[in-house]
Amino acid sequence: MNFYSTNHSAPQVSFKEAVLHGMPPDNGLYLPLSIPKIPADLLNDLPDLNFQELALEISKLWLKEDIDEKWLKKIVYEAIDFDATLHKVKENTFSLELYHGPTYAFKDFGARFMARLLSHFVRKESNETVILVATSGDTGSAVAQGFYKIPGIYVVLLYPGGKVSKLQEKQITTIGGNVTALEVDGTFDDCQMLVKQAFLDEDLNDIMHLTSANSINFARLLPQSFYYIYAYAQLKQYEKPIVFSIPSGNFGNMCGALLAKKMGIPIHHLIAATNANNIVPHYLDSGKFEPRPSLKTISNAMDVGNPSNFPRILELYGNKYENVIKDIHGSAYSDHITKKAILKIFKETHYLMCPHSAIGYLGLHDYLLGRENEFTGVFVSTAHPAKFSNEINKFLDYEIAFPHGLKSVLNKKKVSVKMNSDYDDFKKFLLKASWRKK
Ligand SMILES: *Cc1c(COP(=O)(O)O)cnc(C)c1O
Repeated sequence: MNFYSTNHSAPQVSFKEAVLHGMPPDNGLYLPLSIPKIPADLLNDLPDLNFQELALEISKLWLKEDIDEKWLKKIVYEAIDFDATLHKVKENTFSLELYHGPTYAFKDFGARFMARLLSHFVRKESNETVILVATSGDTGSAVAQGFYKIPGIYVVLLYPGGKVSKLQEKQITTIGGNVTALEVDGTFDDCQMLVKQAFLDEDLNDIMHLTSANSINFARLLPQSFYYIYAYAQLKQYEKPIVFSIPSGNFGNMCGALLAKKMGIPIHHLIAATNANNIVPHYLDSGKFEPRPSLKTISNAMDVGNPSNFPRILELYGNKYENVIKDIHGSAYSDHITKKAILKIFKETHYLMCPHSAIGYLGLHDYLLGRENEFTGVFVSTAHPAKFSNEINKFLDYEIAFPHGLKSVLNKKKVSVKMNSDYDDFKKFLLKASWRKK
């Protein structure tokens, strides 16, 4: 399985190199030269497999030449150790809940799978592997949690002190083990600058193997196809065309669905649902891709003004607008409409959605309007509503039940290393870090 760059001026690489480097040297994005098709007999048997078995069968199509089956099974079963569940909200409308992992958001799928693949591929390296992650809140904790207890890998998570929510800070600073939280006296941009400078520092890179594990790594996309395939297998019995509505920011989740479709899963239509950052819906309407600075909304994990996976989507459609719009439909929603939808669905069905998932719901609702019985509709629920209880409780007077894992995080003691935003101090910290004393 070889990979090429969407900018077409970098050498082709193996799956291993695509995972280790993350990004090709020409600043494009890696995509596979060909996408494996699910063989007809496997496609038939999918409804009989549990989620882990299904994830392994799909992984084998991609990785059987690169990883021995015994190892691959261990990687997949450890990474995908929680379920993706379908909840019927009403007739022909299902919520695909992707928030039953350790950080209660769908990024756990990508982060856990990437962590184990990376660890497998670097296990013969002589230098320690250090993952540097700058985070403004959510993504970082999924990545750090994904690498928790992975042998030979150390994670340094930088976050801007006082600028993340209480719950986010607890999720960042209570992991422990091989994960160190650095509380930087500065902004998210300062955190990112420190990380960037470290990657360019040749002395440091001679001593330790620094990796970014960033969100454009292909290893994060592949596991995001598993749950679409699994949902299809469960819903096939209804014998209606399936549409998925995906609340999107950087469009990594959408790329997972596109992989599922290209592997041969019959998905009738995909809905790209966004908040006010409507760059992709605008493109789908007009053919014009016009990135701009992001706007702040209540679905803040989707506040993206320049969706990083957009070049992958274009490339998968041969860079032809008329092909993209055959498969993907777009719609965008304001905070006001999002809040109204959360309230309405809660009142009607007692089902509570986080603001991101509510945008997925709205995208589906509008698509199905007047033809509800023609399709099986699925909206993707990307985070547990309790994670956004601060926001939701401003307009809904209801005590949201916290799942056990979130409650226990809140009760744990914060452990962080305070740091200013000076690069020399950051470098000293890395050179003296406790894991180096061995
Ligand atoms: C990251 C995230 C999204 C957006 O996913 P993309 O792959 O960036 O499109 C949506 N909802 C939640 C809760 C997220 O954390």
